[in-house]
Amino acid sequence: MHDPKLTDALAFDREHIWHPYSSMTDPLEVYPVTSAKGVRITLANGQTLIDGMASWWSVIHGYGHPRLNQAAKNQIDAFSHVMFGGLTHMPAMDLAQKLVQITPDGLEKVFFSDSGSVSVEVAIKMALQYQQARGYTRKNRIISLRRGYHGDTFAAMSVCDPVTGMHQIFQGALPSQIFLPAPETPFGEALLASDLDALERTFKQHHTEAAALILEPIVQGAGGMRFYSADYIRHARRLCDQYGCLLIADEIATGFGRTGQLFACEHANIAPDILCLGKALTGGYLSLAATLTTDHVAKTISQGGAGCFMHGPTFMANPLACAIALESVTLLLEGDWKSNILRLEAQLTQHLAILKNHPKVADVRCLGGIGVVELNAPCELKRLQPKFVEEGIWVRPFGKLVYVMPPYVITDEDLATLCQGIVRVVTSL
Ligand SMILES: *Cc1c(COP(=O)(O)O)cnc(C)c1O
Repeated sequence: MHDPKLTDALAFDREHIWHPYSSMTDPLEVYPVTSAKGVRITLANGQTLIDGMASWWSVIHGYGHPRLNQAAKNQIDAFSHVMFGGLTHMPAMDLAQKLVQITPDGLEKVFFSDSGSVSVEVAIKMALQYQQARGYTRKNRIISLRRGYHGDTFAAMSVCDPVTGMHQIFQGALPSQIFLPAPETPFGEALLASDLDALERTFKQHHTEAAALILEPIVQGAGGMRFYSADYIRHARRLCDQYGCLLIADEIATGFGRTGQLFACEHANIAPDILCLGKALTGGYLSLAATLTTDHVAKTISQGGAGCFMHGPTFMANPLACAIALESVTLLLEGDWKSNILRLEAQLTQHLAILKNHPKVADVRCLGGIGVVELNAPCELKRLQPKFVEEGIWVRPFGKLVYVMPPYVITDEDLATLCQGIVRVVTSL
């Protein structure tokens, strides 16, 4: 099928439009999408792909869900947006109430923003303003974990892994943070002495300058798809309390059931002082994020020198995004999401196990709705991407990692097809 208009548009795209982490002189191929429904993405050439990525963790209910479409239409007919300064609306009030209800105990105050990275900026600003308000003005650095990923804006970038986050490119412009080694204790196991020791040493050495510790609980996502021990998070919580640091949990990827608990913090039975949510919050419909904190943190900030929290984006609490988010969370909680995630985990584990002993494969691991095949060497995206598309599946590997986190609504049959495609591509390497 030859479509001259599309051919021109794609030529324009290649010449003029940045894609994520892309070169403008040597861009990789991009595939034009014409529609998406359920777990299927339809390309302009008519081919359909089973989606393994949930558009980067976000599309948990599948594309074009009738309930979310209806919520969007209803809200558009009422109003899409009003400023949040001096005004408020039911979508924000209902959503905030729901988030306070379902997140770990003690998180009572909600700050809405427009993307995950911004919610991390907001979390870091909260931590700094909190310490300042308490008179701890020297506590202005953040402890973070190597192999972490927290977003692409400056403060968020400063707490990403220094190597994969390419800190050297922005040297001098990034705040210098304090890094812990990446946790080595596997998920489900008691904390290794080496991990505990690194945690304790770092707090002992740096607590006078540390405002907060930020981590992605249980699953380090874009920094390596690593699953680690809940014990690590429990000890992090204890040390934060002991040394007057706040614990920031970045659940932008793990939130809303992906790891088998509604929030990954629940694996460790702890509550953070600050929680970042994003990605799946709107079921992948619109960009929306939230930073939640405790009464104590909010009160301390508000009674500090500034007398307020210094942030307020233009599209704060966008009503359309909030209305869809409310419906998405409602839909999730209505169903038996937990057994469904266990189903995904069992299927992923079963189908990908065959790769465990493959000579090109270093590790296969699955947790909740996440399946990871770690290769021995980095794969060439340019060569691999078309192979997945040929298999009729949408999988976007990075570095050594071929991984999937499909929409929760994927059927056993489609999940089998997705995994078999991965197995075929990986064994063909
Ligand atoms: C994706 C992600 C972010 C950044 O969110 P954006 O919406 O892309 O800005 C931050 N932290 C984690 C853990 C993420 O997975």
